[in-house]
Amino acid sequence: MLFEWLDVETLSRRPRFAEHDRETYDALLALCERLATDHFATHYRKSDTEEPVFDGEQVRLIPEIGAALDAFAKADLLTLTLDEELGGLQVPQVVASACMAWFTAANIGTAAYSFLTVANAKLLLAHGTPEQVERFVQPMLEGRFFGTMTLSEPHAGSSLGDVVTRAVPADDGTHRIFGSKMWISGGDHEMGDNIVHLVLAKLPDAPAGSRGISLFIVPKYLVGEDGSIGERNDVALAGINHKLGSRGTVNTAPVFGGGAFTPGGAAGAVGYLVGEPHKGLSYMFHMMNAARLGVGMSATTTAYTAYLKSLAYARTRPQGRPLTAADPTVPQVPIIQHADVRRMLLAQKSYVEGALALNLYCSRLLDEQATAEDADERVTVGQLLDVLTPIAKSWPSQWGQESNSLAIQVLGGSGYTRDFDVEAHWRDQRLNPIHEGTHGIQALDLLGRKVLGSGGASLQALAARIEGTVARARELGGEPADHATALEAAVARLGEVTMALAGLGDPARTLANATVYLEAAGHVVVAWMWLEQLVAVGRGEGDFYEGKRAAARYFFRWELPKVAAMLDLLDAGDTTTLDMQPGWF
Ligand SMILES: Cc1cc2nc3c(=O)[nH]c(=O)nc-3n(C[C@H](O)[C@H](O)[C@H](O)COP(=O)(O)OP(=O)(O)OC[C@H]3O[C@@H](n4cnc5c(N)ncnc54)[C@H](O)[C@@H]3O)c2cc1C
Repeated sequence: MLFEWLDVETLSRRPRFAEHDRETYDALLALCERLATDHFATHYRKSDTEEPVFDGEQVRLIPEIGAALDAFAKADLLTLTLDEELGGLQVPQVVASACMAWFTAANIGTAAYSFLTVANAKLLLAHGTPEQVERFVQPMLEGRFFGTMTLSEPHAGSSLGDVVTRAVPADDGTHRIFGSKMWISGGDHEMGDNIVHLVLAKLPDAPAGSRGISLFIVPKYLVGEDGSIGERNDVALAGINHKLGSRGTVNTAPVFGGGAFTPGGAAGAVGYLVGEPHKGLSYMFHMMNAARLGVGMSATTTAYTAYLKSLAYARTRPQGRPLTAADPTVPQVPIIQHADVRRMLLAQKSYVEGALALNLYCSRLLDEQATAEDADERVTVGQLLDVLTPIAKSWPSQWGQESNSLAIQVLGGSGYTRDFDVEAHWRDQRLNPIHEGTHGIQALDLLGRKVLGSGGASLQALAARIEGTVARARELGGEPADHATALEAAVARLGEVTMALAGLGDPARTLANATVYLEAAGHVVVAWMWLEQLVAVGRGEGDFYEGKRAAARYFFRWELPKVAAMLDLLDAGDTTTLDMQPGWF
């Protein structure tokens, strides 16, 4: 995907990536595979069964988690994409995403700590002061401090404009933070020297709603000017949440300013304003787009790793005989010989490789957005990312779950036991349509903000890209040309339906079925990703390429037709859900 399709090597012509070539990328990918296999995959089951414990004061994790994260930091993987001045390697995002895929596939619960820390550090690099960067970001990038994203509150998850955590200005220019947060991943533990929370809170003069939210750095321990670790800040846990999956990542309910500690002799968590007052949510959104692409990739790899495990099982599990075998004394065949098992494997392959293509494609777009010389191209890429980000987050989260379920089904009864990993991956996956904006919120974002909010421009940019692929597929003739015709028709219909929705004249009705729109658009986009891969395959010979052709065929014959029913429902402006009254349930 990286070299034959996304043409990653040509990025080396750009000044930012000039130091790199195929050799350095291959070495990095091999390093990540080795580290993920040796340090992350090895405690996957243990971190699931021995979940974090909170004794009222401290959170204890199994030691393998800290050891793995230490190995990750020592391999300089926290700074993979950052500027050289910051000690970074300036690796293209697309290669970095492929590298990180090894870790989320191996153990998402452990990998999450470093991913949160990198997201936190990147936000502060973009919006923090040089002094904040030196004091908090540098130690995070060295692996000494960990970071969190502390947004949600018990009553404010999807609707972050409703957070009520307060920030009170102090005489010395700092602030004191008071409030209870909820669902905070990595919110407390004993790894590293410190935890840097990035907290959303409201200043006393804040306007109501999302335009009145500010962002603060709140460290677990105060940090002296010389970088020394000072007294404990007023951050304590009300408790931890016990989760369905992804259990290695401790999930916490932190209380800020509850008086458990008294830094400087007074209750209140010491916080440092990031950027300008009231702009916190926009800074967070800057980071959230990257985080959404990251969640999409984790969803993909969570499904991908289970697919590979079910494939290995199907190759070796003997059960039954071919339908045509009349003699009951002949040996049983491996279950991969049964067409229905191959159906389940092929469905998984088409989902996970389609999703991986989409995630890598989006990462490649991030590199274009950052380094393309042509300003118009950067604008187009921005439009594409606008429309693709909610899909790249949601499609792998939804179809990854289906894929994970099929992986269990391939193992039969064994799949339903804790003797095999597939059930744990299925539980891990269930988080992905919930966090970083639920499935329904992504749908509103796609249809309301990205497509209609841009007057259709972002969808047109996407349609133009797809048209380019269609033309290249037509040149190949044969099956790719047939698929191209099907895709072209689906894109045209999506455009028509979008116009119909825009013309309804009632925003509530236009957006009532936004989730169906997200899912239909998602299938169209993943069909496009399959056509892209097929064009890259060209006339390639051998098992790898035949496998790509078969999975593309599966997606075009079995999956893309589902879109027609969804688009018909949308076209009719169906009001079934709007009309249903709460009292009628
Ligand atoms: C394991 C885990 C880890 C997390 N980690 C973090 C973290 O590190 N930091 C952090 O800040 N948060 C974190 N979260 C919080 C997460 O982002 C929220 O759970 C999520 O945003 C949903 O918010 P909620 O739970 O309050 O659900 P709600 O917002 O109450 O949503 C409930 C349901 O209502 C729907 N809904 C809500 N509003 C609307 C609307 N306007 N229109 C249509 N449908 C709507 C939703 O789609 C959903 O189906 C984490 C959550 C979990 C479970």
